[in-house]
Amino acid sequence: MKRAYNFNAGPSALPLPVLERAQKELLNFQNTGMSVMELSHRSKEYEAVHNAAKERLKRLLNVPDGYDILFLQGGASLQFSMVPMNLLTEGKIGCYVLTGAWSEKALKEAQKIGLTTVVASSKEANYTYIPPLDDVQWPKNAAYVHITSNNTIFGTQWKEFPNTPVDLVADMSSDILSRPFDVSQFALIYAGAQKNLGPSGVTVVILRNDLLERIPDGLPTMLDYRTHQKSNSLYNTPPTFAIYMLSLVLEWVEEQGGVAAMEERNQQKAAVLYEAIDESGGFYKPHAEKGSRSLMNVTFTLPNEELTKTFLAEAKERGFVGLGGHRSVGGCRASIYNAVPLEACEALASFMNEFRRRFA
Ligand code: PLP
Repeated sequence: MKRAYNFNAGPSALPLPVLERAQKELLNFQNTGMSVMELSHRSKEYEAVHNAAKERLKRLLNVPDGYDILFLQGGASLQFSMVPMNLLTEGKIGCYVLTGAWSEKALKEAQKIGLTTVVASSKEANYTYIPPLDDVQWPKNAAYVHITSNNTIFGTQWKEFPNTPVDLVADMSSDILSRPFDVSQFALIYAGAQKNLGPSGVTVVILRNDLLERIPDGLPTMLDYRTHQKSNSLYNTPPTFAIYMLSLVLEWVEEQGGVAAMEERNQQKAAVLYEAIDESGGFYKPHAEKGSRSLMNVTFTLPNEELTKTFLAEAKERGFVGLGGHRSVGGCRASIYNAVPLEACEALASFMNEFRRRFA
């Protein structure tokens, strides 16, 4: 069987050894005579899977004491609402940094809940860069500042996280686990799993426990972080199979040498593609400014629509999947999350070079 060169933005490639292991265990998990997805979520076998996933994530990200990890549903999109519902209390202001479509969506949901302000934005440049926060005048009653660590659609990424005087909240859906970072810089982090963590269905939230004291009473039970923190994310039936897959992916990351090793590989992979762009004499134009380039989503355009169509059609014939850019950027996007091997990036770069030689 030939696996596709999968450059999908999400859901995206999973590590082959993880899929093989899940296949092997599918019908009879640890001699239970059942699949993981058939186990009761109250069974000791499932609980071990659940707690192992949590422990592995804690280890891999060096999550300090005083933080908790939650496994929720509803995707990162539900967090756009849950963050302000839980943290944007009366009279406080939710500060937002706009760096792309996902941060705009996060802001839009917060506006329905409480007061908000945009403290920095690169919208005027169609989100080609990450705006600096040095000159921000922070409101005195700021509840938090929300950033999107990696902008999946535009292909930009925060290189260093800002030191802010207010609690920092980050949507890390498209780059969590791709590089080491200091969790203690953040009040809350959330990420839909379907890029670097596993299949869709589970959303990871890492939060500093003192935030729980600020949560207003009266929220719907399922939308209150305290419900999930108190019950070890087992208040209701969790997405058990997705959490099992998350655990296998985390085990794989550990075997690869952890998050630092992931970063090294991700840098190599991105360098191969950015080199093909930079050395194309302007045939491939990068969307992101150099200092803001993402290691996860490489965005570029070709000289015209016609060539873009031909490029995508030929790429598809050669087994490259998911290279079409989002309509707000146009052109192409190669999403090269943790599970995409260097070899796939090398193959794509070599196709890009060959295509350019024929059409430039
Ligand atoms: N935030 C970012 C940065 C994303 O890339 C995505 C999806 O691609 C989302 C949020 C939305 O995630 P979900 O589909 O889990 O709601």
